[in-house]
Amino acid sequence: MSMSALGNQIMQKRQCAFCGKRIDAHLNQCPFCREMVPQVRLSRSGGTSGRTQMRQGLLYMLLAGVIYYFGAGYAKPLALPVAVQPAVTNYLAPLLFLFGLALALYGLILRLKS
Ligand SMILES: [Zn+2]
Repeated sequence: MSMSALGNQIMQKRQCAFCGKRIDAHLNQCPFCREMVPQVRLSRSGGTSGRTQMRQGLLYMLLAGVIYYFGAGYAKPLALPVAVQPAVTNYLAPLLFLFGLALALYGLILRLKS
């Protein structure tokens, strides 16, 4: 088998997301495990999977940054009328940031897999 023929065959096959076996790209259902497998999208930009998670994750990270910024007193002239508890800055902001980071990464993985 020539290299181009091999490449062509790989192009027309894809991996089942459920059992991992190689199946024909045009199939809607995996012949091995009978799971429904969504059709491969022609354009990645058309997909929305992961985008919501990424946006929410980035928002959480931004929010954490804002909380930390005000809580740490970097914005003295714009200090909040309510004093931010140190615990909020020390624990909540990093937790929120990590949560946002995890969510954004999860969204990124979803995007890459789609
Ligand atoms: Zn399968």
